[in-house]
Amino acid sequence: MTPVAPGSVIGILGGGQLGRMLANAAQRLGFDVDIYCPEAVAPAARACRRHWQGAYDDTALLTEFAKACDVVTLEFENIPVAATEIIEATGTHLFPGAKSLAVSQDRADEKAFLNGIGIATADYRVIDSDLDIAPALLELGGTGLLKTRREGYDGKGQAWIRSPHDIATAWADVLGAPCVLEAGIAFEREISVLVARSSRGETATWAPPHNVHRDGILAISSVPSGLPHDVEQAARAQAIRLVDALGHVGVLALELFVLPDGRLIANEFAPRVHNSGHWTPEACQTGQFEQHIRAICGWPLGDTRRLFDAEMVNLIGEAGLVDPDKLSPGDVLTLYGKHEARPGRKMGHITRRLNPRKD
Ligand code: AMP
Repeated sequence: MTPVAPGSVIGILGGGQLGRMLANAAQRLGFDVDIYCPEAVAPAARACRRHWQGAYDDTALLTEFAKACDVVTLEFENIPVAATEIIEATGTHLFPGAKSLAVSQDRADEKAFLNGIGIATADYRVIDSDLDIAPALLELGGTGLLKTRREGYDGKGQAWIRSPHDIATAWADVLGAPCVLEAGIAFEREISVLVARSSRGETATWAPPHNVHRDGILAISSVPSGLPHDVEQAARAQAIRLVDALGHVGVLALELFVLPDGRLIANEFAPRVHNSGHWTPEACQTGQFEQHIRAICGWPLGDTRRLFDAEMVNLIGEAGLVDPDKLSPGDVLTLYGKHEARPGRKMGHITRRLNPRKD
């Protein structure tokens, strides 16, 4: 693929904060950005050249959008695969491809794919009806986490089952949708690996952050992770194996549980830039948003070297109503331009650069 030249138009499917930060990075590299999303008001739509407001099944509008763009990407993994096919039918490249999307949209397919390339996941059983749960629970050792196969995020669509008495409530919690039941993992910590793969097949990873969740939502990501070098290297190698196997183009985040003995268990992956990589623009030579744009445009990847120890704190709900007078001078603030601070809503984040790295 010939590199996409500065001045070209990058299209982004999805209008959230990830799209907004991708748009900012693309604009800095000299691109124009068009956003396609169903919402009338959206964080990314306020930071672009043109906002195409339409449904993901509007063939005519998606076709017109694709023709107006030189390359299209996405910021949200639940874009219907059919929408990506409409775009590709116009001859405009779309990255990442349908394979990354399709696999990540279904937790059962995702786990089977990971296991198939030698990446361990929690033991799991596919649940098609509530009658499947009791025998699966027994096989998994008596405790499990029921997760909907599709459309779950930030801990939504999930319910713990710690005894057969919990089955009915858990099944009601997931609204009787097709699920997987996963064995509970007694992890020591959670990390993620941000990895980029370019349309040239070049790959790069960043130092894996240690991630702390509250109420199923990412609260803090920090580097260094505190893990031994060999564990971090093993995690990075798994992420590279995954993007190569998917033929993925762009950034991807692989979320991993670390067991007390250092073994890694993959939880899930997101085929896009990710909240746990929000510290990279401030703390690394090249951040995840710029890297994604480089990857989909067929540019050489940037240097992912880390320049600082760093901590990224999510501003969720009311915490996102920032009083500028209360900021520390060293806080690097990013707000997503959302007008209303609902509970659990990601409003922005603060990155703190800590010690400069000496190596
Ligand atoms: P997910 O939506 O799959 O990313 O899960 C949200 C959070 O729930 C994870 O970041 C973990 O903190 C926790 N979690 C998910 N799956 C498991 C599991 N199998 N065992 C223990 N904790 C889990």
